[in-house]
Amino acid sequence: MKKIMYMLGVVLLLSISATKANDKVVSETLQTDTLKKDDSDPVCKMKVKAGNTRTAVYEKTIYGFCSESCRKKFAIEPKKYIKK
Ligand SMILES: [Zn+2]
Repeated sequence: MKKIMYMLGVVLLLSISATKANDKVVSETLQTDTLKKDDSDPVCKMKVKAGNTRTAVYEKTIYGFCSESCRKKFAIEPKKYIKK
């Protein structure tokens, strides 16, 4: 039980620090969808295959990620990784 409480605490802390960065952007980018075509991870530039569900939706575009840590970096500061 203590372990579960600890886990909850960590998740809560993570979400609080993410929320501070930008409340609206984070909640939007943490939506996920299935990647429709092969793409590359906007954070580390690794190839990501179609069908990947480790994704974030930002401004109606689906971005795929190689790992959860890349996805989190993107969710906190998506503009940093998107070139327009
Ligand atoms: Zn990556």
